Amino acid sequence: MSGFQVVLLRAGDVIFRENDYGDCAYMIDVGSVEISVERDGEKVVVAHVGPGEFVGEMAILTDAPRTATAIVAEDAMLRKISAEQFTQRVSEMEPVMQMAIETALHRLSTTLTLLKSDGSHDAIEHRRQGNSAALATLQLEAEIAAGVRRDEFRLYYQPIIELASGKLHGFEGLIRWQHPERGFLAPDHFIPTASKSDLIQLITSFCLAQACKDLPLMRAACLANLENVLPPTVSINITGRDLENDDIVQRFDQAVTENQLTHDALTFEVTETSLMHDKAQAADVLSKIRALGADVAIDDFGTGYSSMAHLSRLPSTILKIDRSFVSAMNESEQDRKIVTIILSLARELNMSVVAEGIETRDDHDFLKAHGSDYGQGYLFAKPMPLNQAVTMIKGWDAVSLTADSEIERRIA
Ligand code: C2E
Ligand code: CA
Ligand code: CA
Repeated sequence: MSGFQVVLLRAGDVIFRENDYGDCAYMIDVGSVEISVERDGEKVVVAHVGPGEFVGEMAILTDAPRTATAIVAEDAMLRKISAEQFTQRVSEMEPVMQMAIETALHRLSTTLTLLKSDGSHDAIEHRRQGNSAALATLQLEAEIAAGVRRDEFRLYYQPIIELASGKLHGFEGLIRWQHPERGFLAPDHFIPTASKSDLIQLITSFCLAQACKDLPLMRAACLANLENVLPPTVSINITGRDLENDDIVQRFDQAVTENQLTHDALTFEVTETSLMHDKAQAADVLSKIRALGADVAIDDFGTGYSSMAHLSRLPSTILKIDRSFVSAMNESEQDRKIVTIILSLARELNMSVVAEGIETRDDHDFLKAHGSDYGQGYLFAKPMPLNQAVTMIKGWDAVSLTADSEIERRIA
């Protein structure tokens, strides 16, 4: 959301008048704006809009003149969004989203044409509701960018265990947002929106830098417990957009060098689905990451659409079995079969496997017995901040995990 011009206005200032030519919209950050139309020579106020809402958005959608007059009601701070900035963003969206937006815009402009002759409150309300999803996205994007600048994001760590030995192998880095008003937010509140724009690259850069800063502390902690802990690695999650150019390769190299690490301390997790957009480009960047020495994991394996041929051509070294298969294992023989098939597929392709979402001893025992190399899930621990991860490294006991499992099996 950077690059939008900020405009400060006083109450009574005219932002634009009905029938003016317009090539920009305004998003209200502070203050309020009165929207009116002229009907039979009389001014009719049709709405008051406030923070988080748009005015004049039709100008960035169509070439038609302004359909209403906007006057500042309370001193206001606005952000000006040009038609060009808007079109650029739409053109960067995936084709299905572009189509959805074009359809929505077409409907909106039909509603507004009706509105000009009708002007009823219902029609205006309809228009405002139609816009609220787009507004919410823009607002969230602005907040994410501000959140990155204000250092509100945190990288949490969830342990990954080597199942055969019970040793702690490393952690997956999972982002959280300490939002000043909305509290502690899980990634599903903001990653889907961030992933549709370049904002995701800011988040990925943060995760990369934070993981490389935290890894030396994890490595130092493991020295006191080498019998139970392997030198920790950290996996970070990346998306298709991160692979649209080589920037990530340079950022990775730099973060590793600055913290005196080796490249194999990091693993990059990417979902099959996010690789679908430009397969060749994504495979090219992933190969460069691999060439530096990091592992590449296919995340949520089994939920995407990639063909086996595509999978075998990707420069990946790890498959992460999606949590949905692991949790369904207890319910059906069919799902247990799927898991064993994925495990043998990985063996054939010389890849190692991490099973996600291990919540019970039964999950653990089945996956271990069928050769899953690693496991991750609430049975071991939920994602936690760095200081707790360090405590876990110092106190981890590989033997008790294996022994408990044995005891439970014997009792059963
Ligand atoms: P994911 O990469 O599949 O991460 C695993 C998710 O499963 C995490 O949710 C984790 O807390 C949760 N989980 C782990 N073990 C268990 C279990 O035993 N039971 C259950 N019910 N859940 C378990 P989280 O942290 O909410 O992350 C959700 C998703 O958000 C991640 O799914 C990933 O796709 C995305 N994400 C998280 N952090 C980042 C990030 O830094 N960058 C990007 N691009 N995406 C991220
Ligand atoms: Ca992941
Ligand atoms: Ca996953």
